[in-house]
Amino acid sequence: MKAVVKMGRGPDNVVLRDVEEPVAVPGHVRVRVVATGICGTDIHVAHDEYAHEVPVIMGHEILGVVDAVGDGVDEQWIGARVACETYYSTCETCEWCRAGRRNLCPSRRSLGSFENGGFSAFVVMPVTNLHRLPDSLGPLDGVLAEPLACVVQCLLDPAVVNAGDRVLVTGPGAMGQLAAQVALAQGGRVTLIGLAKDSDRLAIAAALGITTSTEAPETDAYDVVIECSGSAPGAAAALRAARRGGRYVQVGIFGKEVTLPFDVVLYKELVVSSGFASTATSWRRAIALIEQGQVSLGPLVTREVPIERFAEAFAAAAAGEGIKTVIIPS
Ligand SMILES: [Zn+2]
Ligand SMILES: [Zn+2]
Repeated sequence: MKAVVKMGRGPDNVVLRDVEEPVAVPGHVRVRVVATGICGTDIHVAHDEYAHEVPVIMGHEILGVVDAVGDGVDEQWIGARVACETYYSTCETCEWCRAGRRNLCPSRRSLGSFENGGFSAFVVMPVTNLHRLPDSLGPLDGVLAEPLACVVQCLLDPAVVNAGDRVLVTGPGAMGQLAAQVALAQGGRVTLIGLAKDSDRLAIAAALGITTSTEAPETDAYDVVIECSGSAPGAAAALRAARRGGRYVQVGIFGKEVTLPFDVVLYKELVVSSGFASTATSWRRAIALIEQGQVSLGPLVTREVPIERFAEAFAAAAAGEGIKTVIIPS
């Protein structure tokens, strides 16, 4: 099968290769990949800005159908349409694993960075990581289940938006769009901001009922600011826009050290919080939001690219074109 493999250092070492099809080992399933979304972290992996081991098949925002099960796995899984948690394995003995926070396990090995991921026709993963998707979901919407679970980890565990809160979301990429939708579902009065070049992406949010802007946000005005741009100017704008005693939530990843006006955290007594990847709890809540129709995922899938043209898809994602670009393996 064809797979997008990170072979070594530098973006030139991301190549399309023929690799052997994996088999389902005990406790695991093999998933036939329908589509895998390109995440910001994939771009960071390509540029060596996110921890990984090589060689590895990239991609973790996987939508697929279970195609084979290993020993000890219920055969009823075969044919199920699923999305999956990013973890391949965690230690299960550290204090974070034991507290149900496997996302923080120092030994966590995840799909697409340490274990072979979803930019390929098949991927093998532990059955414990699977989530059956509701039938109501459109054909490719499920690629956004994993990013939604990550957003939920940042916004709902614990809940950071109260009904009536003024909420600012910076960065209209997939994470910003999902954060805006979730904050709206929580009863926030949400404004999603971007740059002038983001007008197409902001239009998609506006069509879903979210207030959008390309202006600099009002200073000291928002109860909650949710930073999804992963850029220093976006984070600085969010810090300045937070009101005294408000909350700053980091969702985006910078991938490098950045300079920020961090004193405003002190001057305004901001609460800073975040979320890293997802937990079983955030997945359960994410699936509930999907089932209840509180999030619209379909409009966020803006481009489908066959695996042979992955380089073009990576370039578009890195340039911030569209919202979610997905790779179709076959
Ligand atoms: Zn991701
Ligand atoms: Zn652990």
